[in-house]
Amino acid sequence: MERKQFGLGDIVEMKKQHPCGTNRWKIIRMGMDIRLKCQGCDHSVLIPRQKFEKSLKKVLVRAEEEQA
Ligand SMILES: [Zn+2]
Repeated sequence: MERKQFGLGDIVEMKKQHPCGTNRWKIIRMGMDIRLKCQGCDHSVLIPRQKFEKSLKKVLVRAEEEQA
């Protein structure tokens, strides 16, 4: 069973921080597009999965694993 690099509910750091100065994003929706919520200002963005994977720097906090 392979583990995904990221999952729903994880807190991630991106290559570019949000203009508000925070670089902590929570994954709030997974799919063809990934929806992220900035943990600094609660702004949310929708990013195509491929682009997200490229701009993901690291997973800061892993959400508990759940069965999909
Ligand atoms: Zn922000």
